[in-house]
Amino acid sequence: MTALPNTHFTNARLADGALVDITVTDGRFSAIAPAGDSALATETPAIETIDLGGQLTVPGFVEGHIHLDTSFYGDAWRPHIPCTGGFDVRERVAFQARNLTAAAPIAVRAKNQLELCVVHGSLSMRSHVMVDGSVGLKHLEAILAVREAHRDLIDVQLVAFPQSGILSSLGTAEFLGEALKLGCDLIGGLDPASFDRDVKGHLDVVFGLAQKHGVGVDIHLHDGGTLGLFEIEEIAARTRALGMQGHVAVSHAYALGEFSGDVLKKAGDMLAASGISIMTNAPGDHAFPPVAALRQAGVTVFGGSDNIRDSWWPYGDGDMLNRANMIGYRSGFYEDHELEAAFDVVTYAGARALRLDNYGIGVGASADFVTLAAGHVPEAVVAVPKGRTVYRRGRAVAKDGKLLG
Ligand SMILES: [Zn+2]
Repeated sequence: MTALPNTHFTNARLADGALVDITVTDGRFSAIAPAGDSALATETPAIETIDLGGQLTVPGFVEGHIHLDTSFYGDAWRPHIPCTGGFDVRERVAFQARNLTAAAPIAVRAKNQLELCVVHGSLSMRSHVMVDGSVGLKHLEAILAVREAHRDLIDVQLVAFPQSGILSSLGTAEFLGEALKLGCDLIGGLDPASFDRDVKGHLDVVFGLAQKHGVGVDIHLHDGGTLGLFEIEEIAARTRALGMQGHVAVSHAYALGEFSGDVLKKAGDMLAASGISIMTNAPGDHAFPPVAALRQAGVTVFGGSDNIRDSWWPYGDGDMLNRANMIGYRSGFYEDHELEAAFDVVTYAGARALRLDNYGIGVGASADFVTLAAGHVPEAVVAVPKGRTVYRRGRAVAKDGKLLG
């Protein structure tokens, strides 16, 4: 990105209620002072001054879990096919394979979805990309090109995701290793017990590749009950043994939503001590991780859209503020501090889980921010105002749901 001159933003309302003026230099926040501070304008003359008019000014949202390669957003509508005997990952993967044969090119669908996220204010993203014996590296190659083409708009982390299992899909372990060499930032996994039916064998490959390539781990775990909890314990044990605290996430972790009392307390303490983040999208018809209890235990809980208009479900709009609303709604959050927690899940907690440097509204941070028609964070979470402007490195890139220029 080319160097950008100073820009002054006046009358920005921060999350703590303060009304401030902000200077952006070369894409970073270089000064923040109380609104009307004349010293700021004199010390850092700007070529442009933008009056934000007291709008709520928050950091860019963190889309912590999405599938850029399997969405049909912007493509033909694919009616949802229900599982024949209740939710079954293997069956859904088969439906997905069938749907994808008739889909528009990955590059087109991924671009549609990525831009959808940006216009709503996500400027950092973690996308899982199918890498397995069924598709090899085909999806990844397309997504790497999309990431490169959108580098100026959004930072994208890619997870090499074995959608068809590792041990049950021939050649997958080798493809995963290749994917990490090609540019994937993390290694993924999928229900080691119910899918590959070999927890140790599955995790040996995942953590072996993580160690070999020096990357983090983000595992899809739908398995519920004590089976799911057992897998979380196994993931935590490996994380601690390898000193990977802070580099491992478990996505979905539905099992955590099925326990309470001492069992949940023990799980929360274990996850916190292991530095494992938990991703939830507050799914419609599943138990899901108890956000407040986990945060209380010191666990980083972050959010993601997961599937948008794909073979898993038709929902999703790429708006992480709306996701905060869903997470708060399903969590029974009513008080301001709870609504602020839901907001944290899609902003600062997401940044911690993704290990983003230079995140937030502060001097030195990247000037990636969103201005919203809301008086404060709790109001933004319940009202989900669509009127918003998205700034990337201090430059407006989207307004009211449309990309600019
Ligand atoms: Zn997913």
